[in-house]
Amino acid sequence: MTRRHGGSTLPLPAPDTSRSRSRDWATIRTLLPYLWEYRSRVVLAMLCLIGAKLANVGVPLILKNIVDGLSVKDQVLALPVALLVAYGLLRLSTTVFTELRELLFSRVTQRAVRKIALQVFRHLHALSLRFHLARHTGGLTRDIERGTRGISTLISFALFSIFPTLIEIALVTGILLIKYEWIFVGITFGTLIVYIAYTIGITEWRTNHRRTMNELDSKANTRAVDSLLNYETVKYFGNENYEAHRYDESMQRYERAAIKSQSSLSLLNIGQSTIIAIGVSLIMWQATVGVVDGRLTIGDLVLVNAFMIQLYIPLNFLGVVYREIKQSIADMERLFALIHENAEVRDAPGAKPLDAGTGRNLAVAFEHVDFSYEPDRQILFDVDFAIPPGKTCAVVGPSGSGKSTLARLLYRFYDVNGGRITINRQEIRAIQQTSLRAEIGIVPQDTVLFNDTIEYNIGYGRPGATSEDVIAAARAAHIYDFIVSTPQGMNTMVGERGLKLSGGEKQRVAIARAILKNPRILIFDEATSALDSNSEKAIQAELRKIAENRTTLVIAHRLSTIVDADTILVLDRGRIVERGTFAELLSAQGVFAQMWALQQEEAERTEAAIAA
Ligand code: ATP
Repeated sequence: MTRRHGGSTLPLPAPDTSRSRSRDWATIRTLLPYLWEYRSRVVLAMLCLIGAKLANVGVPLILKNIVDGLSVKDQVLALPVALLVAYGLLRLSTTVFTELRELLFSRVTQRAVRKIALQVFRHLHALSLRFHLARHTGGLTRDIERGTRGISTLISFALFSIFPTLIEIALVTGILLIKYEWIFVGITFGTLIVYIAYTIGITEWRTNHRRTMNELDSKANTRAVDSLLNYETVKYFGNENYEAHRYDESMQRYERAAIKSQSSLSLLNIGQSTIIAIGVSLIMWQATVGVVDGRLTIGDLVLVNAFMIQLYIPLNFLGVVYREIKQSIADMERLFALIHENAEVRDAPGAKPLDAGTGRNLAVAFEHVDFSYEPDRQILFDVDFAIPPGKTCAVVGPSGSGKSTLARLLYRFYDVNGGRITINRQEIRAIQQTSLRAEIGIVPQDTVLFNDTIEYNIGYGRPGATSEDVIAAARAAHIYDFIVSTPQGMNTMVGERGLKLSGGEKQRVAIARAILKNPRILIFDEATSALDSNSEKAIQAELRKIAENRTTLVIAHRLSTIVDADTILVLDRGRIVERGTFAELLSAQGVFAQMWALQQEEAERTEAAIAA
C-alpha cells in the first residue's frame, strides 16, 4: 500500500485480488479483539439468530401441513387450530428472536465503534507536529467518519446477513435432501453457486469504482474545508469563483465515479434477478411435475415455493451486502492505517517522568544541537547554550534564523538530529513527554484559540481551575478590563481560531493561559509582537514579574523588550554568532549592536514623525 507520509488521503492501489483479500482479512482480524471482549453477548446473540432461523424454516413446514390437511379429498375438513396457532407463534418468534439479537448486539457494536474512534483520536494527538502540518483536515475527518460507520456496517452485515443466510441455506437444503428428490437440492445449489460467483465477480470489479469514489469524496471534502478555513484569503483576492471551480472539478470527478458505480450496480441487480428467476422457475417446474405425477402433494408445492422465496429474498441482498462489506473493509482500512501511522516522537521504552528535584527552578541546556526539518536543509548548527535555573535567556536574530525552532525542540515537537537538550541534566528524549510539557508554558507567536468562550480559552491553561484563578490570570495578562467591557464578559465567544479578537487580545489570552498553567519553564515567542507600544510596555512589566524566578526563554524582535535578560543569544542562519548581556553585546560592536542602532534610529524617526 502506498501511503503519503502524513497525508490524510491514503491512495490505495487497484486491488490485486489475492493481496486485497488477505488485506481484507487482516482488517477484519484487527476488529475481532474489540468484539471478543463481549463474548457472552456475542454467543447469546448467535443463539437468538439460530432460533430466528429455525422458526423461519418452521413456517413453510407448518404451512405445508395446513395445506395438505385441507386438500384431502372426500373427507370432512376440520379446522387445524393447533397448526394455525403454531404458524402464528413461529412467525412471531422469528421477529422476537431477531429483535432480541439486535438488542444484545448493539452494545457490542457501539462499544467497538467508541473504542476504535477514541483510539484513533488519541493516536492523532500522539502523532507528531510534522504529521499534523502535512495533513488535510477535511479528508482526515471524512476518513474517520466513514471508518467508524464502516465498523457497524461490517458487523451488522457480516454477522446478521451472511451468517444467517448460510444457516438458512444449510437448514433448507437439509430438509429438501431428507424429504424430497435430489434434483431440488441440485437446482438450489446450482443456482446458488452461479449466483454467488456472479455476485462476487461483479462486486470485486465494482469495488474499484467505489474506492475511486471514496478517494474523490475525501479530496472534494479536503478542498471544501481548506477553502472555507481560508475564507478571508479567498475574499482578499476575490477568488470565490476560482474556489468554486476547484471544488466543482473535484465534484465532477466524484460524479463520474458515482455514476459508473450506479450503472455497475444495475448490471449486478439485473444479472442476479435473472439467475434467481431461472432457479425458482426450474424448481417450481419440477415440483409441479411432481404434483401432476402424484409424487408430491399440493402442500409440497407450497412448501418448496415458500422455501425458495424465503431463501432467495435474502440472497437478493447478497450483492448489496457483499458490496457493503467490501466497502466497510476499505473504509476501515483507511481508519486503521491512521492508527498504524507511526508516531515520530515517542516516549522511550521505560521513560520516567522528569525528575524536577526539590528546587523551584529548572536548568535548561542545549548541547551542540543540530537540527533539520527536512533531510536536505539543516536549520540549526551546533547550537550550544544553557539557561541556569530561574534565569532568562533571550534569542534574537533575523526572520527564519531558527528562533521558534528552539522552542519547538524544547517542547519536543521534533527530536534533534545531533547533540542533546537537557532539563536538570536529564535528556528530554529520555523522559516522558507529558511530564516534560507539564513543566513548560508557552506564549506562541501565532495564537490560535478554540471557538469557545474567553473563559474556556483562558481556563484551558489548567483544566479544573476556578473562576477566580481564571480572573486573576486575566488580570495579570492585562485583559480583564477588556473582557468585562464586552457585553458577554467572560462568556464572549472568540470565533473560529479566535478570529473575533484582535491580534493583541488574542496574544493576551495566550499570556493569561500560560500564567494560569504556572509552569517552571516559560517560553515567550514574540509574546508581545501584536501589541502597540503602550500595551507592550504595560504587559512587559507583568511578563518580567511572571518570569522572575522562572527559567525563561524569550524570543524577540523588538530588542528593547529584552534589555534585562541574563543572556542574549544572536542567532543567524541557525548558528549562534554572538552571546552576552545587553551591555556586553553593545560594547562588542557586532551584529547585535548594529541591530540595536537600527531599531533605535527607527524609533527616533517614528517619534519625530509623531511630534511633527
Ligand atoms: P521568525 O522570526 O520569522 O518567526 P524564526 O527564526 O522563528 O523566524 P523558525 O520558525 O525557527 O524561524 O524557522 C526556521 C526555518 O525553518 C525557516 O526557514 C522555516 O522555513 C523552516 N521551517 C519552519 N518550520 C518548518 C517545518 N515544519 N518544515 C520545514 N521547514 C520549516
